[in-house]
Amino acid sequence: MKLNPVIIQRKNLHKKLWDDVRPQDVNDLEWEIGAYSYDFFEECGFNFPIEVNTAPELYKLCQSVKEKLNVQEDVWFQIKNRIGIRGNAIVSGNNIYPSIVRLSATAIDQLNEDELSFLIGHELGHVINKDVVIRFYYDLKYGKDGASNKLAHSMKAYTLFSELEADRYGYLACGSMESYISFLYKCRCGFDFSKSGVSFQQFMKGNHNRVQFFIKGEHMGSDTHPYDAIRIEALHIFSTSKDSRELSSRMYPILYHLDHNTK
Ligand SMILES: [Zn+2]
Repeated sequence: MKLNPVIIQRKNLHKKLWDDVRPQDVNDLEWEIGAYSYDFFEECGFNFPIEVNTAPELYKLCQSVKEKLNVQEDVWFQIKNRIGIRGNAIVSGNNIYPSIVRLSATAIDQLNEDELSFLIGHELGHVINKDVVIRFYYDLKYGKDGASNKLAHSMKAYTLFSELEADRYGYLACGSMESYISFLYKCRCGFDFSKSGVSFQQFMKGNHNRVQFFIKGEHMGSDTHPYDAIRIEALHIFSTSKDSRELSSRMYPILYHLDHNTK
């Protein structure tokens, strides 16, 4: 059964933050368009467009993931001239510019097709949820530390939840937990999990223990991403739950601790 990837707690936080940070002043919106276009044009020259004529195979892969996730809006794909396996999404908050998904040159070089599909799907997840736009408006309104503690906490929790949800889109794109884990390992240290001979079942058992250790402790990840072990556990739950009720009850301890231990 295909489960809905939306994490309802993230969606609720999105509404709360959006109602608070959305600019009322048209000048702020213009400022946003200006900032976006600066990033867009400044960086464009350093990145290589993934288009049907420039990189046909990669273009096909990007488009097939986009179709699989039913992303209707215009999205440009680019090869980012950076070392290290990473992707990012420049998410447009308006109808003037398209969103852009960038895949690093190293990612394209070192990831196999399933792992790359995961990365594309993950970044498209951020486009679908307009995650960066919320962050942008939040920073625009409050600067670094200007929001109330409660709202600042909501923003941090939102950021962590949004990564877990983006992982679900990545999973829907590639359909394989093994590919997700091998993607994370390659990303962190270049290690090729699929060549290691490590049993996936044994790995998941060990991972479950690691997550319990984190849950008992106070820290659940950085400001922007939950620990890899938590991300793996959360996606494992998503990929093995029979229905949405089971999914939300198994996810509850993870979301609770991410929320309550976010500093
Ligand atoms: Zn992400």
